[in-house]
Amino acid sequence: MSRKKLVLAVIDAMKPAMLERAIATGRAPAMKLVAERGHQVDDCVAAFPSVTPVCAASIATGVGPDRHHIPSMNWYRREEQRYIEYGTSFKASQAFGFKRSLTDTIYNMNAEHLSRDVETVFESLDDAEVRTAGTTYLMYRGRHEHEVANETALTRLAATVFKRSVQGPREFFYADIFASRRTPCRSQLGLPGVRDQHSGCVGSYLVEQDLFDFLLLSLPDNDTHSHKLGPFAQVTSLAAADRQLERLMHAGGGPEAFLDEHAVIVVSDHSQSQVEQEIDLFAGFESWEVLPAGGRSEEAQIALCPASRSAQVYVLDRDKRRALVPRIIRTALALEGVDLAIARTDHPDGEAMVRSDAGELRFTSGGDLVDAQGERWSVEGDLGVLALDTTDDRVRSATYPDALGRLWSALRCADAGEVLLSAKPGFEFLDWGRTAHVGGGSHGSLHATDSHGSLLWCGTGPDDPAPDRQWTLRDVVPMVREHFGLPAAE
Ligand SMILES: [Zn+2]
Repeated sequence: MSRKKLVLAVIDAMKPAMLERAIATGRAPAMKLVAERGHQVDDCVAAFPSVTPVCAASIATGVGPDRHHIPSMNWYRREEQRYIEYGTSFKASQAFGFKRSLTDTIYNMNAEHLSRDVETVFESLDDAEVRTAGTTYLMYRGRHEHEVANETALTRLAATVFKRSVQGPREFFYADIFASRRTPCRSQLGLPGVRDQHSGCVGSYLVEQDLFDFLLLSLPDNDTHSHKLGPFAQVTSLAAADRQLERLMHAGGGPEAFLDEHAVIVVSDHSQSQVEQEIDLFAGFESWEVLPAGGRSEEAQIALCPASRSAQVYVLDRDKRRALVPRIIRTALALEGVDLAIARTDHPDGEAMVRSDAGELRFTSGGDLVDAQGERWSVEGDLGVLALDTTDDRVRSATYPDALGRLWSALRCADAGEVLLSAKPGFEFLDWGRTAHVGGGSHGSLHATDSHGSLLWCGTGPDDPAPDRQWTLRDVVPMVREHFGLPAAE
């Protein structure tokens, strides 16, 4: 095969302005080279909610939550009548039990929650006999079976909890729990701060040994750093991520030689914004019967699912939907910092409604207005709610990029809440562990400040980044498929 090998690097929460600064100050030479040799976009739109599991699923499948079925970071699974918590914070995981939270994150997210009706990029490439590889990433579903690794004392301990094998890419390294071969690399079970170096270690080993055609290189530590110290501290963590990419380049004979043999795509799954105040959803819904973290309750009316700068509220008895949804919206919008409340109306076309201080807006799929993705919509009510500009039958929003398409997809996710909430800039919902990142950074909202990420590519992808085009996370899979000569997915 004469085509280049491809590395897809996902840098969690990379903020475009911070990447600019890191490049300008000489602290991101690897990404600078990728941009110079290829192209750089600084407004690639995340999924909604702009939290990692939802965005990771869009990066891995090329579709939105309506089709990949991952609704949020914390959500209510109707089938099992229980909460799913992927680890919003240490204390949030603790509230639901670590074993359960880890089992949901490590196993069930891929095996049960991620829709079987969509293929991941690993599955498509595995079917085409492309040599796939992945470092620790939330979405790993592939066609190759991997047993739990048993190498160190730590993993032997983990193996008492994590027993089941999984289906992953051909070469698969997930914390120290799965490792398709012996390498000198250790991740201390994926503790924050050592995850990037584990990816870089595994990645450079795979480059040296020529073990992949496609590698998903996950670099998550920037997100943790930015949650703690705020998005404007990202230059340091982006420099650290860049060093891991550089490490792969050196393993491939130096940057120039590496890029002669490898195409590279670098993408942020979402951005982050500064948090100044928390929103206490639990206090706001104090007079309601809320399903407790630990389990069942005969009286419970609703499930509350805060996820950073987004939240979802579920009506447990769907027959009560009509009566409860308007009350939920009123209760939520009365809380300081809640920007948008989004729900489906009773209209047979599945009309969507968005309410805020600016009024109410309703929209449906199909109509005269065309968005930047080429989708058609009809919209009525207060356009100011989503800051929509409808000049010349085009519909755009600079404040809430791809607003209609993202909300439509989020509402159509099979396990979405009845009411979705998006926070104003500066605010974050307290999670189930009652923690927030006040003084630090967060993400999750529909607002551009959380939603615009960077997308860089060289050695693959279009020659022209088309300045008018609106890039989204859904564009990554098509780029990868095209690179390996696979037909576009339907
Ligand atoms: Zn995050």
